[in-house]
Amino acid sequence: MLLSRFFLPTLKETPAEAQIVSHRLMLRAGMVRQSSAGIYSWLPLGFKVLKKIEQIVREEQDAAGCQELLMPTIQPAELWRESGRYEDYGKEMLRIKDRHERDMLFGPTNEELITDIFRKEVKSYRQLPKLLYHIQWKFRDEVRPRFGVMRGREFLMKDSYSFDLDKAGAVRAYNKMFVAYLRTFARMGLKAIPMAADTGPIGGDLSHEFIILAETGESQVYCHRDLVEKDWLGERIDYEADLQPIVDRFTRLYAATDEKHDATQATKLGEALVSARGIEVGHIFYFGTKYSEPLGAVVQGPNGENITVEMGSYGIGVSRLVGAIIEAHHDDKGIIWPESVAPFAVGLVNLKSGDADCDRVAGDLYAKLSANSVAVLYDDRDERAGVKFADMDLIGLPWQLVVGPKGVKAGQVELKNRKSGERQELAVESALARLLG
Ligand code: ATP
Ligand code: MG
Repeated sequence: MLLSRFFLPTLKETPAEAQIVSHRLMLRAGMVRQSSAGIYSWLPLGFKVLKKIEQIVREEQDAAGCQELLMPTIQPAELWRESGRYEDYGKEMLRIKDRHERDMLFGPTNEELITDIFRKEVKSYRQLPKLLYHIQWKFRDEVRPRFGVMRGREFLMKDSYSFDLDKAGAVRAYNKMFVAYLRTFARMGLKAIPMAADTGPIGGDLSHEFIILAETGESQVYCHRDLVEKDWLGERIDYEADLQPIVDRFTRLYAATDEKHDATQATKLGEALVSARGIEVGHIFYFGTKYSEPLGAVVQGPNGENITVEMGSYGIGVSRLVGAIIEAHHDDKGIIWPESVAPFAVGLVNLKSGDADCDRVAGDLYAKLSANSVAVLYDDRDERAGVKFADMDLIGLPWQLVVGPKGVKAGQVELKNRKSGERQELAVESALARLLG
């Protein structure tokens, strides 16, 4: 992509309305723009990151044996009356009437809708277990939308739902999601710590929130120091094997959100207790028959008996993650994207656009990298070097490849790592080999 053509409205000034660093940087880097309170448009740079995150989430869900489908954003109120949540959900739910005066709503979550699909299509125990997910926009009319995409009103969520014959099966599904979440967040360069959590309005009795420690987090959390140090991606996972030992390794150590915090137990940790602020990026629940019972999601068992299925639901805040990753990866110059979610892998900076030699060398690098499927943002603008460097640092691509008149004469370019700040003068071919390697 040529920067001269890319729609990237960066800002020099810090927008006054943004209170936390990720929100400031997302506005400054031209990733999002607010359309009304808590509702955002995703501009090309932000949209690329959102899609990358979504794809990692998808790959790890698929690997765990969860199947993707897509449910609508607009749901009929009847279903929510059946579960009893139409009234319970209160003002957070955006209620809509269609032209026939039918009550509809913009889904804040999908337990009712997926249970309705299940009860109509699945009739026998032989069809179980089922593990289904979608990645779809949700709407919750939050009292206090703030911090940009972190607490929006419209936001993108991955939500999975499990259906099993008995509690043991439901716990197996829960454990699959538990492990898939560890992998998902680790692939994005995040340490998301699973913490015992309150089950809230969704209800149920087994629940973990996946929390990233950050000063700007909205939740107060407590955990054992070893959880912060742990390596999360070390092993290959066989999702058909018993995952309980892996889950136990994490849940053995104390970790709890404010609502579940047990001060007596926590003080026993002494020096090992970490008390910090956290951002909730995922939440998993086992809730048994809370929805299958009222909605009548029943299958026939091996002896012809009726079995009300056991369910769980598992959410990831896909759009919140964009902000959360920035909270975890930035410096005073801007964003520092982990390679796995970077909108482009390389920022190619031509320090003297219009100079025949610089244009030739930079153009050649751009062509070769692109031909090898390396995503490059080529700054071909007629701008001062300072402006180009500042923009590149702001948007945080992992590598900067700098072509300048002096280097070009010596057949050299500069390769800079955004994270470490390390710069190297390299022959053009070696720089290319490095980026292709
Ligand atoms: P919170 O406690 O932050 O309000 P929640 O517990 O209501 O979230 P869940 O129902 O567990 O949210 O939703 C699953 C995930 O969706 C959350 O873990 C979070 O990452 C994300 N999420 C929830 N609400 C929002 C929001 N208003 N804006 C962006 N992401 C959200
Ligand atoms: Mg939650």
